[in-house]
Amino acid sequence: ARQFFVGGNFKMNPGSVEQKKNIIDILNQADLDPSTEVVIAPPALYLIPLKGLVRKEIQLAAQNCYFKTSGAFTGEISPTQLVDAGIPYVILGHSERRTLFHETSEFVGNKTKAALDASLKVILCVGETLAEREARKTTEVVNAQLQAVVDILKDTAYWSNIVIAYEPVWAIGTGKVATAVQAQDAHAEIRQFLKTRVSESVAETTRVIYGGSVTAANCKELATQPDVDGFLVGGASLKPEFVNIINAMK
Ligand code: 13P
Repeated sequence: ARQFFVGGNFKMNPGSVEQKKNIIDILNQADLDPSTEVVIAPPALYLIPLKGLVRKEIQLAAQNCYFKTSGAFTGEISPTQLVDAGIPYVILGHSERRTLFHETSEFVGNKTKAALDASLKVILCVGETLAEREARKTTEVVNAQLQAVVDILKDTAYWSNIVIAYEPVWAIGTGKVATAVQAQDAHAEIRQFLKTRVSESVAETTRVIYGGSVTAANCKELATQPDVDGFLVGGASLKPEFVNIINAMK
């Protein structure tokens, strides 16, 4: 069975370590389902201080990294530097990075390989826009985003350190969560893609998590779907209800 995975993507929110202590205190005191893998992704600046404050069962993720190890790349952080800082995970290919910062699928693929080579684990985000869904292109778009990674990785062994986050762009930050059926269908397509393009065992073992307006109120139904292996949570990860989402399977 695939271990349930819940990630909290804090994005560029809110300001100080002090403000973040609020959610960290809640997480530290909560009764968390020990069978769920929990990861939080604060802005890079707060990775190290929050690692020192949060209970050890909760792991840290960066929200992005570059594909080079070092050099003249002003403003970037390398995978090796994250490993050096004791950070186990990185989120790559988030739709905000693809859209606002013009990251192509090939670029995301290069970064994924570099992160895995440096021994980071990767939360790889994919998902379609509303226009693409309405044009019935969801599978085509998601498969192309995944294919760019497959093309660069080649070796199937890499996939044991990837969690795929299906995040339909129209559901992110909109309050319009995918229905359980929509999420299940997309996740099943992703698993089918892995089966045909990577391997049957990678398809069976890779966690495919859902992101986009997940809340305490909608997480339980989504979590019952056979191909939904957890969540990547934005807005609600900064609120006390994040605990309920972590405990969705309890
Ligand atoms: P929301 O949960 O705020 O919709 O954000 C989802 C997301 O982008 C997580 O990476």
